[in-house]
Amino acid sequence: MIAAFLGGMAGDKTGKLIQRVNNRRYSGFGVQVFQPNNSLRKGIESDVLCARGVVTDIPLNPFDPEDPLSILNRIKSGVSYVVLPEYHMIKGNLATGNTAIVLVRKIVASGRRVILDGLKLDYGGKPFKNILELIAEGVHIESCYGVCTHKEFKGDELVGCSLPGTHSQLYIDEVIVPYTGPELRSGDVTKGKVSYRPKCIRHFIYPENAEGYEDQGILINVRRRSI
Ligand SMILES: [Zn+2]
Repeated sequence: MIAAFLGGMAGDKTGKLIQRVNNRRYSGFGVQVFQPNNSLRKGIESDVLCARGVVTDIPLNPFDPEDPLSILNRIKSGVSYVVLPEYHMIKGNLATGNTAIVLVRKIVASGRRVILDGLKLDYGGKPFKNILELIAEGVHIESCYGVCTHKEFKGDELVGCSLPGTHSQLYIDEVIVPYTGPELRSGDVTKGKVSYRPKCIRHFIYPENAEGYEDQGILINVRRRSI
């Protein structure tokens, strides 16, 4: 009922999701995609479902991540598969539970199936709440990982690590960013180059253990948010 492509960054989660979606589409099933609008990254913004090297003609139907249940009124008749890329970005809580989970339950209750993708861990190495709760729902999970980007010299040779990139290390320039909550919002960073790199469990450095970090005004707003 629910197929989830979960993992780390650069693990081709969305590529695999697209493969599954196309498979169902070519078999004659109706599909509709809904993507949280906070995950549409500036510069690579697109209005169709796409991943590295793959572009489809399937519209994204952006929605407010604070109000995911608004999707329910937008699902067209004839749609058998509701597709939710970047599921970890959905927010909100109801008295009845995590809104992201309630959304999935309601879609399934309507007789439809769900295909989604998402990151398991945030840049602090902490699991996203949506993903933790989703796993408890008896979902079919396919794990998707890239390769750790750590490299080190062995003698004269620079050797790369080949373990799965389960974690995401966030840098501004070459400094590991301190953890201020699951999401670093656009506008939080005032200067410097932001980059995420996949790291394995061995080479990921928990931000609280990172050495040499000094806040030199590169982060704003985040101090006001609770962790
Ligand atoms: Zn590694």
